[in-house]
Amino acid sequence: MICDNISVNAKGHLTFAGYDTTDLAQKYGTPLYLMDEDKIREHIREYKTAFEKFFPQGSMPEFASKSFSCKQIYRIMAEEQMNIDVVSCGEIYTAATAGFPMERSFFHGNNKSDGDIRFAINNKVGFFVADSMDEICAISQIAKQNGITQKILLRVTPGIDTHTHQKISTGNVDSKFGIAISTGQAIEAVKEVLKTENISLCGFHCHIGSQIFESEPFKTASSIMLEFIKQVKTELNYTAEMLNLGGGFGVRYLESQPEISYTEKIREVATAINEQCSALGIKVPKIAMEPGRSIVADAGMTLYTVGSVKEITGYKNYISVDGGMTDNPRYTLYEAPYTVMLASRANDKADFVATIAGRCCESGDIIQENVNLPKPKRNEILAVLTTGAYNYSMASNYNRVPRPPVVMLNKNGDYVAVKRETFEDICSLDV
Ligand SMILES: *Cc1c(COP(=O)(O)O)cnc(C)c1O
Repeated sequence: MICDNISVNAKGHLTFAGYDTTDLAQKYGTPLYLMDEDKIREHIREYKTAFEKFFPQGSMPEFASKSFSCKQIYRIMAEEQMNIDVVSCGEIYTAATAGFPMERSFFHGNNKSDGDIRFAINNKVGFFVADSMDEICAISQIAKQNGITQKILLRVTPGIDTHTHQKISTGNVDSKFGIAISTGQAIEAVKEVLKTENISLCGFHCHIGSQIFESEPFKTASSIMLEFIKQVKTELNYTAEMLNLGGGFGVRYLESQPEISYTEKIREVATAINEQCSALGIKVPKIAMEPGRSIVADAGMTLYTVGSVKEITGYKNYISVDGGMTDNPRYTLYEAPYTVMLASRANDKADFVATIAGRCCESGDIIQENVNLPKPKRNEILAVLTTGAYNYSMASNYNRVPRPPVVMLNKNGDYVAVKRETFEDICSLDV
């Protein structure tokens, strides 16, 4: 199996986190998001332990909450003493109302409005990851009005392309995010920031992309960032305390993708950082990283009920399900791969090749193409694996389809973390 929280029981039913998925489909209805709480905690602890072991004191991973955001995830993050990233006032509001200690949050984004900046300062967000000089001036003014000094990291672009899908590659010079090092604009910005009132610069941030399986791109990025830190120290006599290397470690969506040890990758990155710092004669900064996908993706699974099964003679087969791009737009957006299984008969021979289609009025509403399954019958349960990241958080009400609930599973039981949306919810803002 693709992850150790998935198995098949004596009835031939797919199990997730030890639970019979067909029982859960019966109990909660479909479509249904499942989240394995113990798996989430296991990943957080792996990251935290590796950071303590390999990086200087004060180094910490942050959970990139855009990958999965609801009150319960912030409670889990608070319990695990994990830091978080937030990218909007909506995420700030969700985390703050869940009781998350906001001094441990980092506020991202390439376009924070004055209103956003005020909201974040009022909610005592710990750090802004500032994306432009324009934004820094605005933060400075608003911080001054509030009588505070705001801690920031400056986001810079190291100018590397990680060869992942273009829409999720962000470290190149012409990215919409950050300030370029290679054009000389980043060092100019640092010079300005150091003169700016009510701003305390704590270090630098970069993010190079997503779904990265090797430590190499992180080593390259950290090498460029450390050179920059050295240049800033030499030219401006400023010592960066913190270096944030962004998110992006890969997740196994298909059996053909590698299984990676995050501990091992972090150790490799740490070795490279230590070596380079001693070569450059600088102190190793506190390191941060921002895993999103690798914390929650394989902690998630989506269950659907099979509807029509259509065989177009001489062409292809379609299996239609009761969800689709409204709960998982990732194939539609960038042909993201997923493993699909027939949960009701997980041990049966997979000899039916089909496209899994959603229910929306959109030909592009596809969950996955050319999957191999036992031929399903109407009303059987289909499972899409590894949907914990960027599924619920990207869900929409297109075609006025209500969003599925999120049911958390742990050793003590199953519970609803997000309720199923109702038609009344959907109409609640209509006047
Ligand atoms: C999206 C993003 C992340 C998380 O990336 P994952 O691939 O989910 O680990 C972290 N940091 C920044 C700035 C991002 O934009």
